[in-house]
Amino acid sequence: MANIIDGKAVSARVKEEIAKETAAVKAKYGISIGLAVVIVGDDPASRIYVNNKKKACETVGFTSYEYALGADTTQEELLQLIDKLNKDDNVNGILVQLPLPKHLDEKAVINSISPEKDVDAFHPVNVGKIMIGEYSFLPCTPAGIMELIASTGVEIKGKECVVVGRSNIVGKPMSMLLLHQSGTVTICHSKTNDLAEHCRKADILVVAVGVPKLVTGDMIKDGAVVIDVGMNRLENGKLCGDVDFDSAKEKASFITPVPGGVGPMTIAMLMKNTLTAAKIKHGIE
Ligand code: NDP
Repeated sequence: MANIIDGKAVSARVKEEIAKETAAVKAKYGISIGLAVVIVGDDPASRIYVNNKKKACETVGFTSYEYALGADTTQEELLQLIDKLNKDDNVNGILVQLPLPKHLDEKAVINSISPEKDVDAFHPVNVGKIMIGEYSFLPCTPAGIMELIASTGVEIKGKECVVVGRSNIVGKPMSMLLLHQSGTVTICHSKTNDLAEHCRKADILVVAVGVPKLVTGDMIKDGAVVIDVGMNRLENGKLCGDVDFDSAKEKASFITPVPGGVGPMTIAMLMKNTLTAAKIKHGIE
């Protein structure tokens, strides 16, 4: 029977550390730390994420600046706002809540954020830095997962690590971070032949797919660390992961629940990146 990895507790610890460091930095250097959150349209899920991010800013002692734009905002208007925020000294981090309404070009918007303020680490410059292991910011979800794995005490070095999913925001950077820690990494995706066989080899299995309960207990090696990134809303309104928790927990040594696993970490790491951005800007070690 697996130990449950408590994402809320790890996230609270990380936020506490950030709050302490923020207070110390603000006192010593007389600076404020600001995160601009841009939301376009009225997607209810995005609204919840934005509110949670604002709440987290309060918890750690940052100033949050919300820009809630109408669903009919044009590309030019959005780019103008980002340009303004890029130049604003009070803003250390810029977060544009995704997905954007269909008429907006998400890629162009991400590319317009100054890499120094790109606390989501989605800008190609920051993505490239992750490839070569010389990064300032890590994308929040994979960085949060690394914290969760660290909290288990299980060493990554030399382990078989299998990442299911190859998205730019989770699967690919996740694979890089595991590789940087000297894991032996396999990346699986929708065209992978015999997914179960690959999963069964994993000492550390990270599943980021978006298909409810895709990975079942019979696909998991005894004693594996299982990280479930999936956040799927079922018809009954409940949240469900990409891993079948009930059967997987019988095989895994550690497993994340959904909700309460990876989710809370993502926001904590966003706060960490914002603090890092402020420290870099002010030349603070
Ligand atoms: P994407 O849809 O961008 O990518 C999904 C990946 O899964 C793709 O690489 C796809 O393969 C692969 N895939 C789809 N079906 C299968 C299958 N049957 N077998 C193997 N691989 C498959 O999703 P994201 O990476 O953005 O998100 C994944 C999940 O994580 C979602 O549920 C999302 O809600 C959740 N999420 C949670 C976060 C959190 O904070 N907890 C943050 C971000 C995401 P291919 O490339 O071949 O199409």
